[in-house]
Formats: sequence, structure tokens, C-alpha cells
Amino acid sequence: MHIISKSTYIKGEQCVKALYMYKKHPYLRDKLSIEKRAKFKRGTDVGVLARTYFPGGVNMTPASPSLFGKMFEKTMQNLNNPNINVMYEAIFIYNDTLIMLDILVRDGDKWRAIEVKSSLSLSETYYQDAALQYYVLDGCKVPISDMQLMYVNENYVKEHDIDINKLFVFKSVKEYAIQQLQEIDKKVNFFKEITNLNNAPRINIGTQCFRPYTCEFLGHCWKRVPNDSFLKTTALSDEEMFSIYNNGTQDNFRFKKLLNPLSLGMNQIDALEQDTFYINYKTFYNTIGKKTDSIAFLNLLFYRPAIPILDGHKPYQEIILAFSILSNQDDETIYWDCFNDYSKMEEGLNLLTEILKRFEKVVYFSAQNINSLMNRYKILESKEISFKIINLKDVLKESDFYNKKTKFDFSLKTIYEGIFPSEEIFEHSRIILNATSDNELERCLVRDDMEMENKYLQKTYKHLIG
Ligand code: SF4
Repeated sequence: MHIISKSTYIKGEQCVKALYMYKKHPYLRDKLSIEKRAKFKRGTDVGVLARTYFPGGVNMTPASPSLFGKMFEKTMQNLNNPNINVMYEAIFIYNDTLIMLDILVRDGDKWRAIEVKSSLSLSETYYQDAALQYYVLDGCKVPISDMQLMYVNENYVKEHDIDINKLFVFKSVKEYAIQQLQEIDKKVNFFKEITNLNNAPRINIGTQCFRPYTCEFLGHCWKRVPNDSFLKTTALSDEEMFSIYNNGTQDNFRFKKLLNPLSLGMNQIDALEQDTFYINYKTFYNTIGKKTDSIAFLNLLFYRPAIPILDGHKPYQEIILAFSILSNQDDETIYWDCFNDYSKMEEGLNLLTEILKRFEKVVYFSAQNINSLMNRYKILESKEISFKIINLKDVLKESDFYNKKTKFDFSLKTIYEGIFPSEEIFEHSRIILNATSDNELERCLVRDDMEMENKYLQKTYKHLIG
């Protein structure tokens, strides 16, 4: 049975304690957020489509983890079977390390190995992934003509059917992988030793808990960190604060002596200790502009499919799926969606433009810059509405809004729960998952959720504006 896999190797690279915990105590992992579930779904969609670039392959995915060994044997047999030219999820095991290769294609008397990525660009982690795959293939003595990363072409524009040959681009990483062979061998052996330990390695919490990924053992490792710890502020850089914390200064009282009494960090710690929030109201009022009752709270729902759906669209280009507008004056809501026919998006945008013209101010909350999206779809061409759209997120960022949850997640949910601590609201990603679900019942939940989210936005705005 294998000990190391691609995911455990990546964990080990980030933190050997995470690797140990994953192997020995996986039940201590944090619950998967809705946002992460959405990301996994996106990766799977692209992976399935990528296979059609090399059709007719044999799928080697085992029916259960206990069959990995058997499927490895089968994969090795298939290499010598002249009737098999393509394998999906081919399984190889070397030095107790298992890989499932996305696509393996016969190339003369050698094989071309391909790892599929659903992104528009390649990160260091992807190179590492591919190098690990190559290490195992090399160990299994598979003759490899090339090791490639296959990813999404940012310049692709959909016209009629998806042109699979233009949607993907390839990057050879064989040379890089060859250079990494010795280093990977050392790491694999070290990671194997870690998994043989009787107890988890002693590793202090640090910046690795969030880079390159948010670790799934935060709940376990951070359980002794007090709720009001200075680590949850941005008083100093993370490197400085973890160093201070791990060197024994763990209480706010001593930490505050290191800060300028008039600094933002000091305000943040005060907010933490009083379980409230901090905001620079002067900046807030200056940025938000003059008071009015003629406000539309806008909830614009869009998503960015990796594989374009509409003609003329590029990968990850936004599709506006729905909007909900709450009028502050009469508390009436107008709702529109195009879940069943995305090509109706233009109609919805025209309707949106007409409605927004009735208001003096439009307030929304989004991680995305809706202004640039609206510009692209020409919503802001009308001078009547172009100067009154406010992203509350930007205004609050500028006004140094802070509470104990906002350092790691500056969302409407964390801001709202910081202002109204007795209330807990749902994650925005829930709406996107339901809106893009194949299940009609789930799509029906979106309208209520969008209206509810607008109420949260209105309540937040009103509370802050006073
Ligand atoms: S939470 Fe931090 S210290 Fe704990 S396992 Fe994860 S990365 Fe390592």
C-alpha cells in the first residue's frame, strides 16, 4: 500500500505536521467550505472535457482505494498492449508514492504524460505536481517522451461549439521535472519518515498555515490561540507577529507595548478585546457621499465558468445569472434571473439599467469590481447612473473596518456578524452553488437567498451610516 500521494506530498511541502495529521488523524480536518466545494467542481468539469482532446482512452480509476495496487498492475500491462493508446487516471506506484496521471498518450515507442489544470496560468505548485508525477513515472521505468501541463487558454473565444483544440494550451515541464528528481527523492523519503512517527511533529503555527493554501487543520492547531489574540489583527506583518508569538509573547498586554498607542493595530486590539468592530468613521462618511433615502441595494449574481458557455465569451468571463434590487424607500424587491436560458442575459441587463436609473445611489457588496463588469456590458454608459454606484466592500476597506473575522475573510458575512454578533448568516458561495446546480429545487432557493442577502446589506449599511 502506498504512503505518499500527490495531495499528501503537497501537504508535506506546506507543513509536515499537516502531512502527519492527514495520514494519522484525518478526522480532525476542518469542514470543507462551500467555496472550496465549488472550486473542486470546476476542476472536475475541466478534467472531463480535457479527456475529449485525447478520445478513446481507458479509464483506470479504481472502484475503491483497496484496488490501487491492482490498477497499478493493470496500468503496467496496458503499456505493453498495442491496442491501448490512451489511459485516463493511469496509476503508478514507486517508492511508496502513488500517482494518478490525468492523461497518458502513446507517442511512438514512448508515452506523453499530461497533467490537467483548470486555471489560466501555471503556479509553482503545479510545476511541483508535475515533477512528482515524473519522479514516479521515471521510477517505474516508463519511457516518457514529454511531461506536460495542459491548462486553459486565456485568449480562447467561444464561437458555436467548444473548439477543444483551441481551448487548451500545453507547457512542457519535462526539463524542470528531470532537474527535480533528486530533490523529490529526498523529500519523499523524509515525508515517509514523518508518517512513521508515533506523535505529530512539533511545528509552531505560522505563515505556512495560510500559504499557499489555508490548512485544513487550523481548527486543531489554533484551538489554544485565544479568540482575541493579536494574531487576528494586522498590527504588524504576519512574519513579525508569529515570531513574537512563538517566542513567548502570546498575550495582548505585552504585545501592545510594542505598538504605537495611536496605531491602527492598537484600535484593532481594542476592538478584539471588547468583541466589537473598528471603523474610521471620518473616512467612511467622506467616501460614502451625501445621505439619501433613494438607495437601491443591488445583489448581482454572476459566475465565471472555466469553460465558456456563451458565444463571444472567453474562459472565466462573467455571466450575469440574476439580480435582486431592494428599494430602501419602500422595501420592495425586484428580482430577475436567466438560469434556464443564459442567452437572455442581455435582456436582464437592459432591465437592470432602467431600474437603477430611478435611484440616487446604488449600493452593493462584492469581491469583484462590478463597475468594470458593468462597463463591459455597457450598463454604465448612461451618465444618469454612472456616478452613484458604491461597493460597500471597497468603502469599508478604505475606512479600515475591522473585526476578529475580517483579517482572514473580508466578506459581507464576517462584517455583518461582527456588527451583529448574535446573528450568523450563510456564505455567499451557497447562492452560486445553487444557481449553477442541475437540480431545479436548489435553483429555486436562490431568489430567497439573494433577497435575504440584500436585507443583510441594507441592515449593515444603515447601522454604519447611523
Ligand atoms: S494549521 Fe498550521 S501548523 Fe497546523 S498543520 Fe496546518 S499548517 Fe501546520
